[in-house]
Amino acid sequence: MEAGRVLISEEEIAHRLKEMGDEISRDYRGERLLVVGVLRGAFMVMADLARHISIPVEFDFMAVSSYGSSTKTSGVVRILKDLDEEIAGRHVLLVEDIVDSGLTLDYMLRTLRLRNPSSIELATLLLKEGVQRVPVEARYVGFRIGPEFVVGYGLDYDQLYRNLPYVGVLDEHSLGVC
Ligand code: 5GP
Repeated sequence: MEAGRVLISEEEIAHRLKEMGDEISRDYRGERLLVVGVLRGAFMVMADLARHISIPVEFDFMAVSSYGSSTKTSGVVRILKDLDEEIAGRHVLLVEDIVDSGLTLDYMLRTLRLRNPSSIELATLLLKEGVQRVPVEARYVGFRIGPEFVVGYGLDYDQLYRNLPYVGVLDEHSLGVC
């Protein structure tokens, strides 16, 4: 990434995901877990977190898009791809890349709770502190960050930068050249 700065390095992410995977494996010991990734942003977190979960686990994905500008969510969410699995009576762990206003997540949790899972919890790599517009209960949080717009490790700006192995902050120059 040109003219951007690294906020969370590849090594820090790898270390924290290992800790989160261990914690999840301990908390759900004896259970069978359905881990649900929210596309597109969570694809990288899912792949790396999954390798550190040592209990029986299944994976599914949902794709959502929130209406709004490229850097701000409107809270109106469209489900582009629903789950393939039924979740009634199951332990579900939703995996997100980032929680900002919390509106997308709030919508998803309300939608999924109507399907009567045994439990539903959230793991997110990043949580922007102090900017939530709805209360968010995230059981597993990788890193708490400030309000800046971040890219990399699955997160995009205009669909670019998702492949960066770290989380970075774009500066004005980078935003201008995208
Ligand atoms: P919400 O505001 O509803 O919590 O976040 C909705 C979505 O906006 C997130 O899932 C993510 O796709 C996107 N988003 C929020 N903050 C950022 C950010 O700093 N960088 C990027 N790339 N996407 C973000």
